[in-house]
Amino acid sequence: MTNFADLNLNPKILKAIKEAGYSEPTPIQQGAIPAALEGKDVLGIAQTGTGKTASFTLPMIHVLARGRARARMPRSLVLCPTRELAAQVAENFDTYSKHLRLSKALLIGGVSFKEQDLLIDRGVDVLIATPGRLLDHFERGKLLLTGVQVMVVDEADRMLDMGFIPDIERIFGLTPFTRQTLFFSATMAPEIERITNTFLSGPKRVEVARQASASETIEQSVVLFQSKRRDQEGSAKRNILRALIDAEGENCTNAIIFCNRKSDVDTCAKSLKKHGYDASPIHGDLDQSQRTATLDGFRDGKLQFLVASDVAARGLDIPSVSHVFNFDVPTNAEDYVHRIGRTGRAGRDGKAMMMSAPRDSKNLDAIEKLLRAEIPRLENPVATSKEPIASASVEETEQKQVHTQPKPNLRERNGRQRNKPKSNNKDNKQNNAAKPDKTVVGMGPDLPSFIALSFQERMVEP
Ligand code: AMP
Repeated sequence: MTNFADLNLNPKILKAIKEAGYSEPTPIQQGAIPAALEGKDVLGIAQTGTGKTASFTLPMIHVLARGRARARMPRSLVLCPTRELAAQVAENFDTYSKHLRLSKALLIGGVSFKEQDLLIDRGVDVLIATPGRLLDHFERGKLLLTGVQVMVVDEADRMLDMGFIPDIERIFGLTPFTRQTLFFSATMAPEIERITNTFLSGPKRVEVARQASASETIEQSVVLFQSKRRDQEGSAKRNILRALIDAEGENCTNAIIFCNRKSDVDTCAKSLKKHGYDASPIHGDLDQSQRTATLDGFRDGKLQFLVASDVAARGLDIPSVSHVFNFDVPTNAEDYVHRIGRTGRAGRDGKAMMMSAPRDSKNLDAIEKLLRAEIPRLENPVATSKEPIASASVEETEQKQVHTQPKPNLRERNGRQRNKPKSNNKDNKQNNAAKPDKTVVGMGPDLPSFIALSFQERMVEP
């Protein structure tokens, strides 16, 4: 087993690594760092949680420790798809370069140009940026990229999803072709393959296990539900979500709740708050200071529920999240893997729960195909035994809760839940494991025959 000392990194970096408490390099670090130190291009196929950030920051710091920055000509560049990710990379730089004197600038939207200009004018060793803001600076004539010796593209597949690929190609063109390129992506879509073929030269390819296969510590489940009317679906889901959270009681120390659309992120967070839950939204339309404050609160344990869009939450390193709730089934199966990867990190246990309506079945199938496993079904906690999944009264239930129940505070809520459905949950798990596919857990002998059919089968029933 390689240890950090074998990697020939600058002793001051090794000291910082030791202080960070790392004992040995992760597989992506073992693969990428030696190649990067040799000056080779690296193509890293890995996602957050694998230690990939250090796999490019450590060799960069080592290289940058020699030499000095010149005004307006950064010596290295890291491109990230979101502001939060860029900020996270910047934090990594601070941690690992704390015994060296390196300068950095973070160019992200939502922060004034003036401050960023000042830093660039002074000269920086590392420029960490989102593509849009970087090009804004370039077009204002404040920045030259001809001094870039090392360029990193982080989370390239997310860049692709966000439509940043043309910007990335343009930025590649503004840097010297002699630069070293370290390129990271969780997946290799054809468009990503094309970019790497165009801009990387003889890269060392380092691929680490996908989280889909490594996430044994995550207990997954899905609630299949159906609301009579499409316009009641959101409300039905919010009811189910609260019931799921309540059923977890104190086991749910904190959670990220993923929605597909920004508007649903807002609605869901508002609804949770209204019902006495400690929740806040995070998505790309919120201003930067709000996003940072929400995220910091969540990291510090002051905020219990973070309601997020994929873009805002992608790649965020939040070490201990007990639960992930998929309020919506993601339309892209890979996103499911990223979402649930927020929990069960570093060997800790985590739970990932999802809600799926009949019209999500295609996306659910795609996820299960990707996972090569069926996600265990969980009984709809809102439906009663007499009132099966197709609950017509979900909206009413929500109304009733709002108007007739006093709002419990968090402690009371969790306390109350302690004797409630925990055993229920266990039963569900056992039932899920023991019963064949078509069984609806918890219906017992009262199970109406149509419920035993899959949603697709029910659709074609007369
Ligand atoms: P990343 O994949 O870069 O988001 O890193 C995920 C987490 O792993 C971060 O909290 C890092 O601080 C941590 N980490 C990075 N390298 C190591 C290592 N060699 N040993 C233990 N933890 C690490």
